[in-house]
Amino acid sequence: MAEITEERVLDALRAVRDPDRGGDVVALGMVSGLNVTEGRVSFSLAIDPKDAARLEPLRRTAEAAVAALPGVVSAVAILTAHRAQPAPQRTPPHAHPHTEKPGLAGVRAIVAVASGKGGVGKSTVAANLALGLAAQGLKVGLLDCDVYGPSMPLMMGVKDKPTKAADGKRFAPPVAYGVKVMSMGFLASDKTPMIWRGPMVANAVEQMLRGVEWEPLDVLVVDMPPGTGDAQLTLAQRVPLAGAVIVSTPQDIALLDARKGLNMFRQLEVPVLGIIENMSYFHCPHCGERTDVFSHGGARREAEDTKVEFLGEIPLDIAIRETSDSGKPITATQPDSKHAEAFREIARKVWAKVSGENAGVRTPPRIVVE
Ligand code: ADP
Repeated sequence: MAEITEERVLDALRAVRDPDRGGDVVALGMVSGLNVTEGRVSFSLAIDPKDAARLEPLRRTAEAAVAALPGVVSAVAILTAHRAQPAPQRTPPHAHPHTEKPGLAGVRAIVAVASGKGGVGKSTVAANLALGLAAQGLKVGLLDCDVYGPSMPLMMGVKDKPTKAADGKRFAPPVAYGVKVMSMGFLASDKTPMIWRGPMVANAVEQMLRGVEWEPLDVLVVDMPPGTGDAQLTLAQRVPLAGAVIVSTPQDIALLDARKGLNMFRQLEVPVLGIIENMSYFHCPHCGERTDVFSHGGARREAEDTKVEFLGEIPLDIAIRETSDSGKPITATQPDSKHAEAFREIARKVWAKVSGENAGVRTPPRIVVE
């Protein structure tokens, strides 16, 4: 496989011209923050914010030009509202730009919680996973990257808005049940629907990662939007992810989508830490009978088929719905319940994996370029 270098990327970008100004994007000094890590390329095009809509096709062309280079696994371009500068790369001195993505200073591990489709309880699991990690005495943050339907302010019962951090530049996130929480839901009003385009999603994710005073944290849990889109790509390419957890309900149709998500993370070389089966079965609080509403066990079989760990199952229970929708997540408010224990058990498995206890057991995913 041809090795892809910054030089090759810049050469490809020299063929991309800003139709209005005539010059190519490199000569115009628009390219910044170029990062090439094992075939994954990301960069930004610095523009005047008022041109964002007009220059979206340029962004796509630039992205496609880079993606077409041999040896490029994936390419992401975002539009940034900065003035072009001669050398705007902001790689911290300890990072090697060719081999590492700069992490978040003071954050040990970043874990994404993802699902193939909406409504499977991904946010509920993300919140309770974060609380299960906190129950182990870890310092935990919870980032709601579901820009399309931010639910963490509600689920975690956060009343406060982020404040200005001591450095005067970043946000200081509010804290709920001992967990730092950040969400686009804090910054946008409930009433105005937000319409997101690719570069805006990438910028929002970037801001919530680097524009928030997360540190010091042992683990940052990230609630992704459902599916495979810009937020997932941005996250995977901007920061080193310790891994991704996939949430699915047991029925085939959900599992099909879950597999797409799983494959995306594998392609991006993000370790898949495992699958959680949510709404696994229904335990009737009145008659005590158990019903396999969505045919229990599908996610466990999917985990076996795709060779990832099965992390656990959470039943469909009104107590989970009520606590999660009223801002009193069950792991924090009913720590003696069996559901809280189930979430803590999943959290223990996740932490064991990302803290390196099981290092070496997992075979790293391979990328095959056809
Ligand atoms: P997603 O993030 O996948 O869209 P949510 O976490 O928002 O899903 O969950 C969707 C709805 O299902 C919410 O009302 C939530 O309270 C409920 N829910 C999630 N998991 C469970 C569960 N195990 N038992 C009962 N209700 C659940």
